Amino acid sequence: FDDRDGQIWFNGEMIEWRKAKVHVLTHGLHYASSVFEGERVYNGTVFKLTEHTERLHESARQMGFEIPYSVEEINAAHDVVLKANGIADGYVRPLAWRGSEMMGVSAQHNRINLAIAAWEWPSYFSPEARMAGIKLMIAPWRRPDPQCAPVHAKAAGLYMICTLSKHEAERQGYHDALMLDWRGQVAEATGANVFFVMPDGAIHTPIPDCFLNGITRQTVIGLARDAGYEVVERAIMPEDIAQAREVFLTGTAAEITPVGQIADAHFTPGDVTRTLIDAYDDLVGRGHKLTAAASVSAA
Ligand code: PMP
Repeated sequence: FDDRDGQIWFNGEMIEWRKAKVHVLTHGLHYASSVFEGERVYNGTVFKLTEHTERLHESARQMGFEIPYSVEEINAAHDVVLKANGIADGYVRPLAWRGSEMMGVSAQHNRINLAIAAWEWPSYFSPEARMAGIKLMIAPWRRPDPQCAPVHAKAAGLYMICTLSKHEAERQGYHDALMLDWRGQVAEATGANVFFVMPDGAIHTPIPDCFLNGITRQTVIGLARDAGYEVVERAIMPEDIAQAREVFLTGTAAEITPVGQIADAHFTPGDVTRTLIDAYDDLVGRGHKLTAAASVSAA
C-alpha cells in the first residue's frame, strides 16, 4: 500500500505518498503508542468528521498523550487531503503516534506525530450481494477487561487481538470473527459492532462497556428507533445467538453488513436489516436503493 501515487498530510505538510515514512525506532511501532481513526467519504464529505476527530483526540488522551493539532485544524487538514487526492468516495485514515526521539518503554517527551491518508474506496458490493450475509466464527481471543487496557480508545495495541482473530477466521474459511469479552459475553466483530434482531422484532446489542461504542453503532441505534424499532442494550451470551432472526454488523467500513452465519447458527437477513441499510444509505447520501425482490433472491 506504500508504493502508489498520492499525497499524505504528515505533521502539517503534504508529502508524496511514497515518502511518508517513519524511523524503525519509532515508539509507536515498538510499544503500540498509536491511535487512529477510520472514516468514510461520501460525495466528497467525511461522514461524522467531527465525531471521528474528537474520538481521535480522546483516544490519544486515554493513551496518555495530547495530539498537537486542534479538532478544527485536523478537520481542515482533511479537506486538503481529500482535494489533493481527488477523493469523492473513499476512506480516510488519520494516525497519531509517539516518535523515535527516545528508545524505551518510557518516552514522555517523544514527539507526537499525526498523519492523514485518504484513498478512493467505492462500495464494491451491491446491497443485493451484501444481503447474502457473511460468515463469522467465534474468535479464539477475547476483548480484555477495562482494567487491563484503555478499551474505549481506538488504539493500535488493541487491534493485535483483532488481527489474530480475523486471520484465524479467514484461515478457517470465515469472513470475520465475533469476539467475546473477558466475561464470555458477546462483544463485537474485529472491526465492527454487532446487532441481533430477536424473535419479537426488538433489536438487541451488547453494552459497549469494554469495546468501542462505534459511531455507526450510535447512528444505527438512532435510525432504528426513528423507524419504530425497540433497541435494547444488554449482556448477550453466546447461547442467545441462535434465537436471533437477523444479525448484522455496523461500522464505518462495514456500514451495515448482514450476517448469515455465526459458528453453527444460520440467519436469513430480512426486513429489519434491509430497512436499516436503506435508512443508512439515505443518511449518507448514497443513491442506490435495495429492492425487496432483489434482496429476496439474494437471500
Ligand atoms: N469495533 C471495532 C474494533 C472497530 O475497529 C470499529 C471500526 N472503527 C468499530 C467497532 C465500529 O466503529 P465505527 O462505527 O465508529 O467505525
